[in-house]
Amino acid sequence: MNLMKRHQDKIYYEGSGNNPLPMYGIAVDSGWMPLVDTLADKIAEIDIDNKVRFVQIKEKFGGLRFYTQFVNLNIKENAKDKELWDAVCKLISEAETQSYITCEVCGQMGKLRNKFRWMKTLCDDHTEEYRKTRSLK
Ligand SMILES: [Zn+2]
Repeated sequence: MNLMKRHQDKIYYEGSGNNPLPMYGIAVDSGWMPLVDTLADKIAEIDIDNKVRFVQIKEKFGGLRFYTQFVNLNIKENAKDKELWDAVCKLISEAETQSYITCEVCGQMGKLRNKFRWMKTLCDDHTEEYRKTRSLK
C-alpha cells in the first residue's frame, strides 16, 4: 500500500485548500521512495497519539524535504510532546542527510551535483543522462 493510503490520517489537510501533499503528491523521483517510505513509517511508529501531519514531501536544492506539522503539541509543558518533537526532527534530518548520498532516480549511491545549472543528487550514470536531457532544452 502506498504512503498516501497507508498514512491517510497523517496527510495534512487545511480547509481552504492549497494542501501541497494532496495536490502534488510525493514530489521526488523513485530512487528516494524507500527513504521516504521508511521515514513516514518510523514517524508513524513513534507518533502514538497521532499528532504529526505530513505537509509536503519534495526535492529542493538536490535534497529531500519532508515538512510536517504537529497538532495539539505542547513542547513546553509536556515532556512526551518534547520527546516526540525531538525524535521526529532527528528522523527527518537523518533521512534528508541520506538523500544527499542517494541517487534520486535509481536509489544507488549518489552525490549532490551542483556544477551545472541545476542541483540534484544523482549517481554517475544518471548525472550523464540528466545533463543530456537538460542541455537539449
Ligand atoms: Zn542513478
